[in-house]
Amino acid sequence: MEVGKNRPTTVELEDIVPAVFNLFIDWLYSQKISIPDEVNINVGEKAIDCIQGNEYHMLAIMLYALANRFLVRDLTRSMNRLLVADYAVKATRPSLDIIIFAFGNLRSSDTILDLLVDFHCCAWHPWLRDYEEEAKLEKELPHDFLLRVMHAHACSNEAARLQTPGDLVPCDYHEHDTLAEWKACEYKRPKGVM
Ligand SMILES: [Zn+2]
Repeated sequence: MEVGKNRPTTVELEDIVPAVFNLFIDWLYSQKISIPDEVNINVGEKAIDCIQGNEYHMLAIMLYALANRFLVRDLTRSMNRLLVADYAVKATRPSLDIIIFAFGNLRSSDTILDLLVDFHCCAWHPWLRDYEEEAKLEKELPHDFLLRVMHAHACSNEAARLQTPGDLVPCDYHEHDTLAEWKACEYKRPKGVM
């Protein structure tokens, strides 16, 4: 067979949601992340598979996964900062649909997975099961997520470290490339705090 013959000239990206791909194209042209908020979200974006009203957060984690998959370093980094700011700075609770998507689509060593586990460990409360849509998703929680939560709760040091979302140290999840970058980060762990 002639080398190069029948080589495909197009790549099919069937599993990528159009709304997320559009955000990626927007970023390529503008270098800006323009995830619409709930008020400005359009019908196509509402059609993504998530709990109703959770479109912004699902688009954000999907865009992060896409940037990781295509090894787009700048976008990966920007999305990491955006997600860490949402969950560890503003203490926005990640719902179970976000956790299920993240564990199904990010590499197992990604610090965003650590952040989701840590947040869940220090913020879960039985009344959250009153949210019917989320309660149904408990059955779909990934084995890896459940194991990590179990290990965190079994470790008394870990349980003492994280009592509320306010105990999360955003920089723990930044994956800084250099020591200088880490030193300059305003969200790093205060000296002397383990
Ligand atoms: Zn940092």
